[in-house]
Parts: sequence; C-alpha cells; structure tokens
Amino acid sequence: IFGPNEGGSAAAKERNAQNQGVSDADWARVQLDDEVPEAVKEPVRMTHSRNVSRVDAATPSHASLQPSPIPEGTETAAVAREQKITPFDVEGGVDADGKETGIDYEKVVRRFGATMISPDLLERFEKLTGHRPHPLLRRGTFFSHRDFNLILDRYEKGQPFYLYTGRGPSSDSMHMGHLIPFMFTAWLQRVFNVPLVVQITDDEKYLLERDAKKQAALQKKIKAKKPLNLLDHYHKMGQDNIKDIIACGVLPEKTFIFSNLSYVGGPFYRNVVLMGKTLTVNNVKGVFGFSDSDNAGMFHFAAIQATPSFSNSFPQIFGERDDIPCLIPCAIDQDPYFLVTRDSADKLGYKKPCLLHSKFLPALQGANTKMSASNENSAIFMTDDAKKIAKKIKSHAFSGGGATQEEHQRLGGNPDIDVAYQYLSFFEDDDEKMKSLSDGYRAGTLSTSQMKEACIAKITAVVEEFQKNRAAVTDEILHAYQDPTRKIDPRPVAKTQE
Ligand code: ATP
Repeated sequence: IFGPNEGGSAAAKERNAQNQGVSDADWARVQLDDEVPEAVKEPVRMTHSRNVSRVDAATPSHASLQPSPIPEGTETAAVAREQKITPFDVEGGVDADGKETGIDYEKVVRRFGATMISPDLLERFEKLTGHRPHPLLRRGTFFSHRDFNLILDRYEKGQPFYLYTGRGPSSDSMHMGHLIPFMFTAWLQRVFNVPLVVQITDDEKYLLERDAKKQAALQKKIKAKKPLNLLDHYHKMGQDNIKDIIACGVLPEKTFIFSNLSYVGGPFYRNVVLMGKTLTVNNVKGVFGFSDSDNAGMFHFAAIQATPSFSNSFPQIFGERDDIPCLIPCAIDQDPYFLVTRDSADKLGYKKPCLLHSKFLPALQGANTKMSASNENSAIFMTDDAKKIAKKIKSHAFSGGGATQEEHQRLGGNPDIDVAYQYLSFFEDDDEKMKSLSDGYRAGTLSTSQMKEACIAKITAVVEEFQKNRAAVTDEILHAYQDPTRKIDPRPVAKTQE
C-alpha cells in the first residue's frame, strides 16, 4: 500500500488534517452509529512502499465522447482479427500479417465513450488531496475515467461519496492481475477516507460458466451431485477471495464486503428489481453480446452488478440516502456493466456511478490477453510459492529478446513486449532500475534470462508479503467484514490512516 502522505501542497495537507471540512448538514440524513467490532479494528496491510514516478507515455485526450457500446469487430482497418474487450473475454487484435498487435487502449476508450485521464486531472487530484497520485495513476496503468472530476468536485466541497469494486470468484486464489484494482482501491480509500463496498459475484461465476466441458470437469473434481453443490463451490471460493481482498489493506472500519449469495435481499434487492426493469433484452444483448441460447440468469445479472452503485442499497452505511454517488476502480473490461448502470441511474432518479479504468496485467504468454484465472497457465496466483513463480516465469513468460543470444547481442531486445519487463513495470518502484533494465535490454547487454531473474525476484517478494498478510486474516475477521448489521460511519475519520 502506498502511503497517501506522499507530498502535495501545505494547504491540502492542512485540509486533510481538518477532517476534510464536511458540513453537518451534508451528513444530516446519514446514519452515524459508529460501532466497530473488535475483530476488524486492526487493519491488515501490505507494507511495501513504492516511489516510482514514471509518467504515462500515452497521449492524454480531453475528447468528450458519448457512450457508444458498439460491438467489437465492426472496424474497417486491414486486420485479421479485431481486438475484443468484454467482461468475459479480452483478446488483442491480429494484423493482416497474422502478428498480434496487443491491446489498443485508446481505441477501447473511444468505443466505450470514456475519457483518457489527463495530466490536468492528476494535478487537480494532487492539489485537492495533498497526495501525489499513486504510481499506477502516474504511470498510466489507470488511464481512463468517467466523471472522476465530479468526484473531485464533491471531495472539494466535503460532500460524501464512496468506493465500489468487486470480484467474481473464478478460482480459490486471486492472481497478480487482481492485485491491481484492489491495491489501488485500498490506497484511494486511505486518501479519500470514504466507505468501500466490495461485491463478490459468486452468483455470476455460476451463471456465466458457458463451457460445458469445463463445467463437467469441475463438477467431477468437486464431486458435485447437483447444481446446488456447484453454486456452493463458487460461494466457498468467494470466501477465500475475500480473505485475499482483506489482505490488500482495505480499511476495516469503513469497508463492507458481501457475497451476492448471502447478502442480496432487503433494500439491495429492491434496487435490483428497479434496475432490472430498466434493462431490455435487446439492450443487454447489444452491450454484453449474449445470444438467445444464453441462460436468463446472465441477462438479469447486469442488474445485480449495477445495484451497489446506488447508495440506498447499503442502509447500514447510508440510511435511506439515495443521492450519494460512488467511484468504481476496475479494469476497463468491466465498463459495459456501468455503462448500462449510468443510463439507468437517470431513469431511477439516482446518481450515476463514476469510474477509473485500468489496463490489464498481461498473461504470461504475452500482451494480447490479460492474466486470467480461467486460464491457469496465464497466471501467477497469490498462493504460488517461490519455486512455482520462478518456473512459470522462466518457462512461460513471453520474451521480447532476440531469437538467439547472438542476435540479441547484435540487435537488442524489445522491453515493450517483454512480459518479465512488463510485470516489473507494474510492481517495481525503482525508476533507475527500470531505466537501466530497459536500456540494457534494448542494447543487447542484458539477456532475457537476466530480465526474468529480476522479474522473479520482484514478483516473489510481492507475493510473499501478500501471503504474510493473508495468513493474518482469521475467520473472525472474514465474518466481521461481511456483517450486514455492522454500522459504518460514512464520514471521514479525524485523520487519514497510514
Ligand atoms: P479472471 O478471468 O481472472 O477471473 P475476471 O475479470 O473475471 O478475471 P474479476 O474477479 O471479475 O475477474 O475481476 C476483479 C477485478 O480485477 C476487476 O476489476 C477486473 O477488471 C480486474 N482484473 C481481472 N484481471 C485483471 C488483469 N489481468 N489485470 C488487471 N485487472 C484485472
């Protein structure tokens, strides 16, 4: 977790210290009971610090584009395969010569109608919060947004907002790609000092398993006698994932984590019903690419992922207030859910969710797809030990080096497509080290195996620290974070904690 006290103006620091100036009137309709169970008083934190300042190489754009959920595959450029980014599939393009082109993020932003994060926006963030933007923001890993400026306006005026993110339990352990949104969200929560809700979509993962063979194999593996056993299996993996999320350092006194299979009901379900009625089958088909043979539950699920965006879904935090917007940090593949949510929010008289989108941590096999739990060979899991991590990186990480040692020395390598270098760029803080690795690789003086060794050392250190934090999350802590009767005070606490 990056400390939020990384700099910023003296005035901003003072403002932080003054409890962000929230007026009583603003909180008048919010529940204020602040009981925190003993089990969650001690936050579990990742403590590694980072101080990288590499600035995003992507050109920011201020283009104000309207949402336009155009199905992928309709562009006219000479390509063999268009890139495809949906909540279920991430595939980069392939050019006319059959070469993988990676993911063109500016194109995704144009298609989804989001906005690139500009240097001005980051500057405003720093001025207001007194915190230097997180390295993942400064580096352009979080690169796009929807209405983040409105969240900053609210912060400036001392008006409430909250964070919302989630996880669909596709494996019993999260992988390194999942660390990106959760570590970042934990940092943002400390900077803004606001409530966080985390949705565990155990229902979604059951509904969305469309590969009959994979499902049959899983049923056999877990000895499922009936569908209910399979549903329980996803729920159980969700519980394991919640421990992973807690280990990322979310604030115990301000975080509510819930499994859909356990929590959905009451005021939350009322919003699911309201949301469900705003969506037509045509709408859902168009945005998510479902077909008539997909199960009806998948169509309805969009309403369930939308609902945490509405503050009155969480009466234990916001009472009956329905006018508090949320900020959703997630990878850009989740955006279609919130595109439909934003459309429907207007119809329901609710606030639209705002978003911060990240790029993907690539699969071991290369930048044409994301690291995914659905493809075990693509991922480094948070449960992997040092030996396994080394083996995976040595044997699977796509190399941007020359075909032979001689060629590499003569022509140099390309760190931009080298997976070991890419992973380092997400997790290594030392700018000087990154520059020297990149320069040496391009010059051919640093070999592929040396790059991989550097990557193995860094990733192993991050995973081992995570494992230490994860081991401290007891079942008691797990249950306390999920207690729906626990009141959460939405007001900022006296001082940001770090
Ligand atoms: P998986 O295929 O691994 O299950 P998923 O996208 O289905 O991936 P989710 O649990 O839905 O997994 O994702 C949780 C959060 O992590 C979302 O914000 C998602 O966009 C993000 N995420 C998933 N994979 C990556 C990745 N490789 N890099 C960055 N973020 C990722």
